[in-house]
Amino acid sequence: MKALVYEGPRQVAVEDVPDARIERPTDVLVRVTSTNICGSDLHMYEGRTPMEQGRILGHENLGVVVETGEGVYGVHVGDRVCLPFNIGCGFCENCERGYTGFCLSVDSDTPGGAYGFAAMGSYAGGQAEYLRVPWGDFNCLVLPEDAAEKENDYVMLADIFPTGYHATELAGVSPGESVVVYGAGPVGVMAAYSAVLRGASQVLVVDRHPDRLRLAEAAGAIPVDDSKGEHIEEILERTGGGADRGCECVGYQAHDPQGHEKPESTMNDLVASVRATGGIGVVGVFLPQDEGAPTELTREGKLPFDFGQFWFKGQSIRTGQANVKSYNRQLAQLIHHDRAHPSFLVSHELPLAEAPEAYRHFDDREPGWTKVILKP
Ligand code: NAD
Ligand code: ZN
Repeated sequence: MKALVYEGPRQVAVEDVPDARIERPTDVLVRVTSTNICGSDLHMYEGRTPMEQGRILGHENLGVVVETGEGVYGVHVGDRVCLPFNIGCGFCENCERGYTGFCLSVDSDTPGGAYGFAAMGSYAGGQAEYLRVPWGDFNCLVLPEDAAEKENDYVMLADIFPTGYHATELAGVSPGESVVVYGAGPVGVMAAYSAVLRGASQVLVVDRHPDRLRLAEAAGAIPVDDSKGEHIEEILERTGGGADRGCECVGYQAHDPQGHEKPESTMNDLVASVRATGGIGVVGVFLPQDEGAPTELTREGKLPFDFGQFWFKGQSIRTGQANVKSYNRQLAQLIHHDRAHPSFLVSHELPLAEAPEAYRHFDDREPGWTKVILKP
């Protein structure tokens, strides 16, 4: 089959690789019809997280079931399914409690598995013609009858829509509250969209790329351009002294041709722009600081953080990977009943063959390259 493989920093290629296949009785085999490029892929693409050469990328996957293992009961050939980026077994202590992002049964030294991701097990990604889905009954979200027609909406359930929602959940957004979101990438825009869905009275999104700020506006938020250096004052003024809740949707960014500062600023900026006793949800991923430097797999990511300000404001911070399965069924219902259309983010639909070019444009933050769906 054809697949997009990692070859080295900023080098990916579409190659012929051995076909994905059923390996265990609980597996499901999916013919991938939509697979997105994500800001998280850039951690590997830019070489900040070491990855084996030849590994298939892609963790935001949707497709049609073509084969099921003999131990699969609830998923059938022909079903159109969306796959959470996290791989969970469904029966370990963490999965049982809903923390499927921290599954203890995955083939990784540390809790949590994902498709096509370094430090999250050795699972192949879905930027390919076929994908093996472990524990298929648990991981496949079987989509309703409008699945093909709304495929570009449903594929956002693999990651960024639930992840944006998770940011608002971690921050504790309640109806009527004001929310500030740092980052107008796909995740930040989905956090803003989720805050609106949850009844926030005011949602502000900070970034400096005009095309991305326009998307935040399309999500129902007020865009805040940080390039002038007075964005904290603007937030304090608009919210009467600080937003009730804040979401960090930037994470480590090494490569921004428009020169955003390093991400330590987002954490300290969040503490400054959220009111005393407010809540902050961090979904941005913080990884080694020097691009291309790490040679060993590490989950380290140090950043200077002003704990004093944070402590005196009595704020709380919650962090971590989105447990996609905690949200995707309900969010699918919002799509099915026309209450949510996350595909407004999509800028490009491209064949798999054009993936290497698409990575380059997306990584360069080229205007207009906000969310790419590959159609193998
Ligand atoms: P992205 O890189 O496309 O977007 C990040 C945005 O942040 C860009 O628009 C950039 O201009 C902006 N930015 C950079 N520095 C900034 C600053 N100092 N202040 C304000 N904005 C700034 O990435 P994305 O796909 O939107 O993902 C965002 C983060 O979320 C990444 O770290 C990604 O790995 C992470 N993520 C986490 C989870 C999870 O489960 N927790 C899931 C998916 C993605
Ligand atoms: Zn993703």
